[in-house]
Amino acid sequence: MRKLEDCEQPTRTVTFFKRKLQDVIHKISTSDAAAGTVTSVDRTVCMAKTVRLMAEPKENVVMEKIVSLCKRRGFIYQSSEIYGGINGFWDYGPLGVELKRNVKELWWNVMTHQRDDVAGLDATIIMHPQIWKASGHVDTFTDPMIDCKTCKGRFRADQTSEIPCPQKPSKMVSECHGEKTAPRAFNLMFQTHVGPVQDDSTIAYLRPETAQAIFAQFKNVLETSRQKVPFGIAQIGKAFRNEVTPRNFTFRSREFEQMELEFFIKPDEVVEAISGRIEGPAPAGSSPEPQPGWGWEAWHKYWVEERIRFYEGIGLSRATLEEYWQKPEELAHYARATVDILFKFPFGTQELEGIAARSDFDLSQHARCSGKSMGVFDDELRGAWSKLEESKKKELGERYYKARLNYLTRTGMDAAEAEKQARGDSENLAKGQYIPHVIEPSAGVDRLILALICNAYSEDQMPDEKGKLETRVVLKFHPRVAPIKVGVMPLLKNKPELVRKALEVRDLLRPHMNVFYDDAGAIGRRYRRQDEAGTPFCVTIDFETLEGIKEGPLSGRKDTVTVRYRDDGRQDRMAITELVDFLVPKIR
Ligand code: ATP
Repeated sequence: MRKLEDCEQPTRTVTFFKRKLQDVIHKISTSDAAAGTVTSVDRTVCMAKTVRLMAEPKENVVMEKIVSLCKRRGFIYQSSEIYGGINGFWDYGPLGVELKRNVKELWWNVMTHQRDDVAGLDATIIMHPQIWKASGHVDTFTDPMIDCKTCKGRFRADQTSEIPCPQKPSKMVSECHGEKTAPRAFNLMFQTHVGPVQDDSTIAYLRPETAQAIFAQFKNVLETSRQKVPFGIAQIGKAFRNEVTPRNFTFRSREFEQMELEFFIKPDEVVEAISGRIEGPAPAGSSPEPQPGWGWEAWHKYWVEERIRFYEGIGLSRATLEEYWQKPEELAHYARATVDILFKFPFGTQELEGIAARSDFDLSQHARCSGKSMGVFDDELRGAWSKLEESKKKELGERYYKARLNYLTRTGMDAAEAEKQARGDSENLAKGQYIPHVIEPSAGVDRLILALICNAYSEDQMPDEKGKLETRVVLKFHPRVAPIKVGVMPLLKNKPELVRKALEVRDLLRPHMNVFYDDAGAIGRRYRRQDEAGTPFCVTIDFETLEGIKEGPLSGRKDTVTVRYRDDGRQDRMAITELVDFLVPKIR
C-alpha cells in the first residue's frame, strides 16, 4: 500500500514510513549498512513487505508451468507479442476473458446487487489533473528507483534483493558488483496531454487507481442515489502505474484493473451522539448485520471479514490467505488501520487486496482543493445533538475539533486559520453536518485472476481410455468462476443422430451458462482438454442416450446422458431434462 501525502505540503507531511524508507535507502546507498548502522527498527519499518518476498526461489518451476499453460490454453498472452512484447502489459485470451468477466460480475453482484447500501459508478480514466494534486499522487506517488551504470538496468531500490541481475542472473541486483546510482523518487503516473497542444497546461494522467473518481463524484452519487451515510460506492475499472520493475507474470503490471469500494461512514463522534455509545467489532469469523452503533473499527473489521468470505466463495480457502495488519508505524498518517489480504502465490505470500480505514482524509482533500463542500447533512444527528447533555456536547465537539485540527494542520495551513476552521467544523455537528469517513476495500482483478489460476493448478494421475495411468494437468476452478461451465460432447462425431442430440443439449444449456461444444478427437482427449481449461462438468451423449439404458434401475430409459466431474473423473447418468436444475445451482 503506497502512502499518499497531502497536496501542496509534501515535505511537512512526509509519513514516518517514508522518512524511514528514505533514511534506510540513504544508509544503504552510502554503505552505512555494511558498517551496521541500519537499525532493526529501520528494517522492520521499511522491509516489512519485502521480507515476505525474499523467501522467493530464484527459479520457480510451478510458475513456469502456469505461465506456459496460460499461453497454451489461451488464458493470458503477452501484449504485442508479435513485436517482441511490451513489459508489464498482458492480454487475456478466450478463456482468460471469461474468467475475468466471471470474477468481476461476482464482485459486482456481491458488492452492489446483493446490498441496499452500495451504488455503482463507472468514471473516466482521464480526469481533471487537480484530482491527482488533491489526492497527493502528483507529489508523492513515487517508488525509489536506482540505475545500474554497469548493466544499464533500472530497479526499484527496495526490491534489489528479489530481482536477478540482468547480466548475472545467478545473483540478485543487491549482490552483484554493478555500480549503482543513489535512489531517487520516481512518479508512477503515466502522463498524457489533453487536446492538440502539448505543454505543461495540458498535462493529464492515466488514473493510477479508480478510487479518486469515487471521491470526486461523492456528492453527485449521494444526491442521485437517495443513499444515506453509511453507504458505499463501487467501481471496477482500469488503472495504470508505470511500475519500475513489473514482475511475477501479471502480479505487478503497468496496466491492470481494480475493484474498489469506498464505504462512507459516520465519524465516531456522530455515531456516539446518535446512538449514545460506540459498539465494538463483532467477534472474528462471525458475519453480523451492520448496526447503527458501529464506529469505524467495527466497520473496518466487518469489511475485512466480508472480503475474506468473498474469496472463500470463489474457491480461495482461508488456508491460502493471510491477513496482514499494518503496524502503527507503517500506516499512512491519515489511516487508522490497514489490513492487506495476502495470497500464498508460488513466488511468495503477497497482497491481493488492501482494506484501509482512511478517516475523512480524501473527502477533506477534495473539499479543500476544489472549494466544494463534501460534508453531509444528517437530520438524525441534529435532533440527537439537541438532546445531549452539555458535558457530552463538549466532549464530542472537542474530539471532533481535535481530529479536524490535526488534519488541517498537516495540510500546512496557518495555525490560526486551522483552529478557526476546525472550530467551525466542530460547531457544525450541532447543525447535523459532518464530513464522512471512509473504509476502502481495494482489490486488483489481475492479481485475483493469477491467484485463482495458481490455486486451481494441479497435476494428478488419471487412467486413460485403456486404463493406463497418465499425468493430467487440471485447473480446479470453483464452478462459479470457471470460464466454461460445461463441455457438451457427442461420443462420436460421425454419427448424425448423436451429433443432433448433442446439439440439442448444447442449445438447452446455453441460455443458462457458458457451454463449449466439442466433437473433435477421442472422448478421453476431449475430457483432458476441458480439465486443462478448468471446466467443472462434461456432458456426453452416447448410444444409450438414443437407444435407452441397457441395464440397472433405469433400464430402457431414453434421453439420458453422462455427467462427468472434472476433479475426480467420476460419472453420473441423468435425464437431459434434469440437467439445467442440476447444473445451475452449482455454478451460481
Ligand atoms: P503493492 O504494494 O503490491 O504495489 P499497493 O499497496 O500499492 O500494491 P494499492 O494501491 O493498495 O496497491 O492498490 C489496490 C490493489 O490494486 C492491490 O491490492 C493490488 O491487488 C492491485 N494493484 C496495485 N498495483 C498493481 C499492479 N502494478 N499490478 C496489478 N495489480 C495491482
